[in-house]
Amino acid sequence: MSAPSLNELRAKLDVDRAGELMHAFASELFPICRSITGAGVRETLRRISDRISLDVHEVPTGTPVLDWVVPQEWNIDAAWVNDPSGKRVVDLRENNLHVVSYSEPVHAHMTRAELARHVFTLPDRPQYVPYRTSYYERSWGICMTHEQFEGLPEGDYEVCIDARLDDGALTYGEVVIEGDGPEEVLLSCHVCHPSLANDNLSGIALATFASEALRGLALRHSYRFVFIPGTIGSISWLAANERNLSRITAGLVLSGVGDRGPFTYKRSRRGDTTIDRAVEHVLRMAQQPFDVFDFSPYGYDERQYCSPGFDLPVGRLSRSPHGEYPEYHTSADDLAFITPAALGDALSTLLAVIDVLEHDRRYQNLNPKGEPQLGRRGLYRAVGGAVDRRSAEMALLWVLNLSDGEHSLLDIAASAALPFDVVRDAASTLEEHELLAPVAGA
Ligand code: ZN
Repeated sequence: MSAPSLNELRAKLDVDRAGELMHAFASELFPICRSITGAGVRETLRRISDRISLDVHEVPTGTPVLDWVVPQEWNIDAAWVNDPSGKRVVDLRENNLHVVSYSEPVHAHMTRAELARHVFTLPDRPQYVPYRTSYYERSWGICMTHEQFEGLPEGDYEVCIDARLDDGALTYGEVVIEGDGPEEVLLSCHVCHPSLANDNLSGIALATFASEALRGLALRHSYRFVFIPGTIGSISWLAANERNLSRITAGLVLSGVGDRGPFTYKRSRRGDTTIDRAVEHVLRMAQQPFDVFDFSPYGYDERQYCSPGFDLPVGRLSRSPHGEYPEYHTSADDLAFITPAALGDALSTLLAVIDVLEHDRRYQNLNPKGEPQLGRRGLYRAVGGAVDRRSAEMALLWVLNLSDGEHSLLDIAASAALPFDVVRDAASTLEEHELLAPVAGA
């Protein structure tokens, strides 16, 4: 029996059910205290690996990676603050965001004023705990709601951060779903944020479930899923894989895809590569609001993939842009902020984009002088429902007219403003009737 196709998989995908399972997976990962290195990343990768068998790589502390050096590994067992009455007012066990990531260890008594120098709050959002990091500068800090901090009395505070910074490793995971051809598609997400749902876990859930969906299918391209700590992880991955990058013909950074906002697509640095046109076409055809931005050297790991020395064709698929929603990098980016519907829709959208990458190619019309007589071949009025039939017939005409060896199916779908799969189906029908032939190597 031959392997099932992506089309068959997409036709049977239960988007609602997939969204529920993705949300459940995000919920499973939510309590883990992640950072750019350490036990939290390893545990996260282990849970992902339970589903999709990752290759896990450890890059030792001190390894030079491009212009950077892999830092010491950070691990934490506890962090708390006791107020002057001895009552525990902050505890890492209640929320991983309470400690600044990469805090150095401390155990000391101090006044409220001394404590205040190490406390981070959000006065404009007094009920949210902020997320803060100090990866490359030795310091320590406690994060709490502004409301709570305002209510703390004067007196003697006891602060403990039981953390360790040691030589160890930076950990990342990857898995390749092999296709028949030489081209590779890179799908990357970050795994370094602690209990934040949209910024981190939504991308992890999407990459994990997309990888699971593609496994076992007959595919034209290979799909490399990379689960890495932000910035230093993609830099380490690029340093280790520099010689293989020419295989990558398309890629996406997946992040922030679980909130209720519309999709946003950030173009690759080149701006007009196949992935850019594929995502834009899929979003346009979905008939829901969406936004497209040009590349900028700020954001997630697309900054590294699209640095000028690599300039990979990698865009970014998100919903609400990072930094532009009040819940971003706060305790309000929790499991209620992401929805099963948004996650399921993200999976279905990503698979639609992959369908374009799989089937986009150029064809030659074998009967280019005048239109071939479609009625005689049973190609007119051959399909069911009137709307479907009209789209299918329009697609036949568009494919015949633009299949001059220059335009690909994606070009044709964009010109015709028709869903890619309708155009793809028209091409395969015309090929069956020997009116169309694929252009070799295209
Ligand atoms: Zn972030």
